[in-house]
Amino acid sequence: MKTKILLADDESDLEDLFKQHFRRQIHNHTYEFIFVRDGQEALTVLEQQLDIDVVLSDINMPGMDGLTLLAKLSEINPIIRTVIVTAYGDMSNIRTAMNRGAFDFITKPINFKDLELTLEKTIRSASQLRETVELKAVDEMKTRFFTNITHELRTPLTLIVSPVDNLLETPNLPTAFQNQLSTVQRNARQLLRLINQLLDINKLEAQQMDLVNEVGDLASFVGQIVDLFRPSTTIKQLVLTYQTNLPAGNYLFDAGKWEKILYNLLSNAIKFTESGSISVSLTHTPTMAQLTVSDTGIGIAADKLPHIFNRFYQVGPRSVDTSRSRTYEGTGIGLALVHELTVRLGGTITVQSQLPGLNGHSGTHFRVEIPLQQAGAMTPQKIESRLSVDVPIVPSELAHPTTATLSDNTPLVLVVEDNAELREFIVAELATTYRIRSAANGYEGWMVAKEELPDVIISDLMMPRMDGYELIHQLRADPATDHIAVILLTASVEADSRLKGLDQGADEYLTKPFHLGELRLRLRNLLTRQEKLREEYRQQFTRTDQSTPLVTIQDQFLGRLYQLLEERLDDSSLSVEWLADQLALSRKTLYMKVNKLLQVSPNDLIRQYRLRKAIDLLRAGHNASETAYMVGFESPSYFTRVFKEFYQQTPTDYIRQ
Ligand code: ADP
Repeated sequence: MKTKILLADDESDLEDLFKQHFRRQIHNHTYEFIFVRDGQEALTVLEQQLDIDVVLSDINMPGMDGLTLLAKLSEINPIIRTVIVTAYGDMSNIRTAMNRGAFDFITKPINFKDLELTLEKTIRSASQLRETVELKAVDEMKTRFFTNITHELRTPLTLIVSPVDNLLETPNLPTAFQNQLSTVQRNARQLLRLINQLLDINKLEAQQMDLVNEVGDLASFVGQIVDLFRPSTTIKQLVLTYQTNLPAGNYLFDAGKWEKILYNLLSNAIKFTESGSISVSLTHTPTMAQLTVSDTGIGIAADKLPHIFNRFYQVGPRSVDTSRSRTYEGTGIGLALVHELTVRLGGTITVQSQLPGLNGHSGTHFRVEIPLQQAGAMTPQKIESRLSVDVPIVPSELAHPTTATLSDNTPLVLVVEDNAELREFIVAELATTYRIRSAANGYEGWMVAKEELPDVIISDLMMPRMDGYELIHQLRADPATDHIAVILLTASVEADSRLKGLDQGADEYLTKPFHLGELRLRLRNLLTRQEKLREEYRQQFTRTDQSTPLVTIQDQFLGRLYQLLEERLDDSSLSVEWLADQLALSRKTLYMKVNKLLQVSPNDLIRQYRLRKAIDLLRAGHNASETAYMVGFESPSYFTRVFKEFYQQTPTDYIRQ
């Protein structure tokens, strides 16, 4: 890259000297020199050409001298690096120049070897500086953009939340409406909370968040907030305790910030604890309030602890991570905000944690210390928390009562989704039409799939323990489940995840947020397609007017099955056990699979296959008793009976016809 260098000097022969000495660099465009005669001229050029990074300047010049120029430079362009060129021994001017921010100096008469080295060093420094400044500008732009977007999101969200809140107040609202509106309310609130947290953290980082002190009873305020979380802990069957020895009385504190700190610590504690208890305590020293929130949850690994207060940081899953697997939902903002808020309040936060070990105890303990201010004689206000805490959704098997009324022939759909609320929503929507099973992650889904062989699986892509790709991979690799159709739901729109999903054997692909109507439609299409195929497979046995197309079947599993039946066509001892063995399936799975595909039992299938083959043989000119033995019947009379039952005529009648 070319560096532009401005040389300000009233000595006219210097220009030629430079051109002569740097002709190589000028020729190959490494350097471009601009020559001016005094400080004023230099300023004019610099104001117009903002890409000049290096200035070489004499000190004594007729118009504006070099020292004055130097003083003005930083205003024009802080990136510029100036090298002073002055008489040897002019120590006091050199000192002044260095104090005014000159980067370096060289003395006259100019030693060009020295000048070259000095220039190189100066240019390096200038370009580093430019990079830093540019990066900072980009960063500021990003932050500004981010803040703008967040602000823009807040207004429409507020306009969703308020009307929904109002609607929910409607007397005698039908339950169905109430349920759906509550879902909207909960999710819109959650989005709003997230956005507010983002705005808060930006404000805190830009040091634009003010303290808003109120006078009131701190201990009871904290108690109020803890109580807001009681329903959440009850649902998860956790014990929630609050202890304080802070005397009731007047304190000066920023309730809004305390509230946010507590909200985040408590939500996390509940989120990451499956059994045991959550305890909150508020104690004090003469100058400090000490708040602790402890849980008996999953704990945080020691090497992760130093990072948890970083913005966007989330502790990943413990297993070898595929970056798509998240164990819990979240954004990694909560604790960063807690940290910033605590610091803003002049306090500190510390954490201790224990992973489940040999003794079985695990848990996390946060301790926040914030300066305590007595309010003295000030009049206390009743401080009410403005928080709304949503109770987490717990998956309940009782949630699909409608399923019970559907017949056993109704298609079975498995919904695999880690977000409990979305899962329940899909389940509730489909449960009126289909039999439904659900699972909270790929692994659970895989277990259910093997057990029940659903007709279709609707699966999320990003899930803890086993993601959607892996689930499909498992399904396709197992002969018991390789036929099951899969609809993948995914948040990512990138073409490659779509391709990857289809490549792994997904049948359909829907991008979140998806339209429920579309999901229903695709599901119905898949099921209709399956039904059509089934019908076609079934008809192959009953059609007697043409040669059998059985071997050309597309379905891999049926193809293999028919091949086995063909191999032992005349063997009357052929058993279902043998078939299951050959296909690497259990008897039960073979039964379910055959029943799914053809709606007959494996025994019936063996018989029907043989009867269908008998048709071909009879058409080819074999008589009835020959045919009976060729297709594995022990006696011609039994063959005749079964044949008549199935085709409504005896083999002899068929030949005659
Ligand atoms: P989020 O919960 O949205 O992911 P946070 O900043 O609140 O973000 O938390 C960051 C990470 O710290 C979490 O993802 C989680 O792994 C870990 N963490 C926070 N609180 C707890 C807790 N009480 N127990 C276990 N892990 C926790």
